[in-house]
Amino acid sequence: MEKDVLRKVYEAESFRDLGHKVIDLLADHLEQVQTHKDHPVLSYKSPEEVYSYWKEDFSSDSQIMDVFKGILNHSINVHHPRYIGHQVAVPAFVSSLAGLMSDILSNGTGVYEMGMASNAIEKIVTDLVAKKIGYTQEASGLLTSGGTLANLTALLAARKAKAPSSVWEKGHQEKLAIMVSQEAHYCIDRAARILGLGSEGIIKVPVKENFSIHTEKLDEYLHSANKKGFHVIAIVGCACSTATGAYDDLNVLADFAQHNDLWFHVDGAHGGGVVFSEKYKHLVNGISRADSVVIDFHKMLMTPALNTGLIFKNAEDSYRTFEQKAQYLWDSQHTREWYNSGKRTFECTKLMMSIKIYAILKAHGNEVFEKNIDTLYDLAIMFAKKIRHRENFELAHDPQANIVNFRYINVGEKDTNLITNRVRQLLVESGKFYIVQTTIGEYRYLRTTIMNPFTSEEDFDALLTEIEEIAKRLSSTN
Ligand SMILES: *Cc1c(COP(=O)(O)O)cnc(C)c1O
Repeated sequence: MEKDVLRKVYEAESFRDLGHKVIDLLADHLEQVQTHKDHPVLSYKSPEEVYSYWKEDFSSDSQIMDVFKGILNHSINVHHPRYIGHQVAVPAFVSSLAGLMSDILSNGTGVYEMGMASNAIEKIVTDLVAKKIGYTQEASGLLTSGGTLANLTALLAARKAKAPSSVWEKGHQEKLAIMVSQEAHYCIDRAARILGLGSEGIIKVPVKENFSIHTEKLDEYLHSANKKGFHVIAIVGCACSTATGAYDDLNVLADFAQHNDLWFHVDGAHGGGVVFSEKYKHLVNGISRADSVVIDFHKMLMTPALNTGLIFKNAEDSYRTFEQKAQYLWDSQHTREWYNSGKRTFECTKLMMSIKIYAILKAHGNEVFEKNIDTLYDLAIMFAKKIRHRENFELAHDPQANIVNFRYINVGEKDTNLITNRVRQLLVESGKFYIVQTTIGEYRYLRTTIMNPFTSEEDFDALLTEIEEIAKRLSSTN
C-alpha cells in the first residue's frame, strides 16, 4: 500500500501531464499580467484573510491545480509593468525553466560529483563577471544564496586576510571594525554583528548630499576608531545604495584602502550589474581595485531569486575563507579545486544557480544584461524628469540608478509624511501599482525601482495621476 503511494509520487507520466497543465496555467497568467493593465499587480488582502484562506484550503479537498491557482491569486506579480517596487528582477522565462531543472535534478553542487554541470557552468559565469569587473586571471568567484550571505562571506574573507590569522581558531583577540557608509544595506550591519564586531565595530561614515559616502571624512573616522583601540580591517563601498541608488566613489575608497592596508569590498548587490553596460559602467570606475565584489543576479540581471555572484580579485582569498576539515566531502582542504564549490561557500548543499544564468546568456546572447540595464536606467532618468517638471511633486534626488524617490507636496495643512504613507497604502491596496517607500532625513518618500523593461511612459503618467488623485482626496478630508 505505502509503496503505491510512493510510486505515485514519482510517476514520470503524471509529471508530464501535470507539468503541461502547470505551464499552461502559468503562461495564461503571465499573458494576463503582462498585457492587461487592469489586472491587479497585487490583489492585496490582510494577513488574517490570507491565512484563513489557506487554513481552509488545507482542510478542504481542493486539488493540486486549485492550490497552484490559489498561489497565483495570493502573490505579487513582478512581471506586471506596473510593478515598480522592490528590487527583484523580472525573471527571464528561460531562467525559470532552468530553475525547474535545478529543482528536479537537485544536484547539491557543493561537491563535484553532485553537480558536474552546475560547477563547470558556475566557473564560466563567474569568470565572465570577473572579466567584466576588469579583474585579471588571478580572480575567481562563486555563486551563493543572496547578497546578504555573499556580503557576510566577503567580510569573513576580509577578516581572514587582515585580522591576525588565529582568529578562525581562537576567536577575536582584539577589537575589530569595518567602515561603511551610513546608507549601506542593513545586511552589512548584520554581517558585522554576526562576525562579532558589535555595534561599535561598525563605523558608519556620513554621506554627502548625493548620498554617496563622504570621502573627505574617511581619515577622521578611521583615526577616531584607532584611538578607541579598534583595528579596522575593511572598508565597504556601495554600488549602489539601496534606498537612493547612490554610487560611492570607488577609486577614492580603493586609494584609502590601499593606503591603510584595509580590505576593500564592494557591495554591488543591486547596481554592480552595470559592469555589463558600456553606457553605465562609469558608475563603478575603480571596481577592479576591490578585493571582493558582490553582484545579485536576481536584481538587475534577470534571474529568479536567489542568485548572487561573489567575485574575488585573488582566488586564493576565496579558498582561505572557510578552511576547515570535512573528510567525508573532500580529501584535502588545502587543495584549490574550483569544481568543489562547497569549499568556498557558506552553504553545504546549494541550488544549481549557475544554470539559471547560463540559460539566459545562451538563449538571448551576451548583450542581454546590458540591454536590460540600459533600458531600466534610461527609464529612471525619463521618469525623474517627468516628476521634476510636474507641479506639486518633489523629486528627492537625481537618480544614478533605476531607483527614483519622490513625493507629493501640495497637502495644505496636512502632514506630508502622513499623507505619503497613506497614499502608498491606498495605492497598493488598489492593486493598480506596486511601489514602496523610504525615509530620507526626516521625510517619507515614495520609492520606485524600475525593474520591468516594459514599464512605459504611459505607466509613469498614470502612476503620477493616481498618486495626485489620492493625495488630493486625503488633503481635503478631515
Ligand atoms: C538587495 C541588496 C542586498 C541584499 O541582498 P539579498 O540578495 O536580498 O540578500 C545587499 N546590498 C544591497 C546594496 C542590496 O541592494
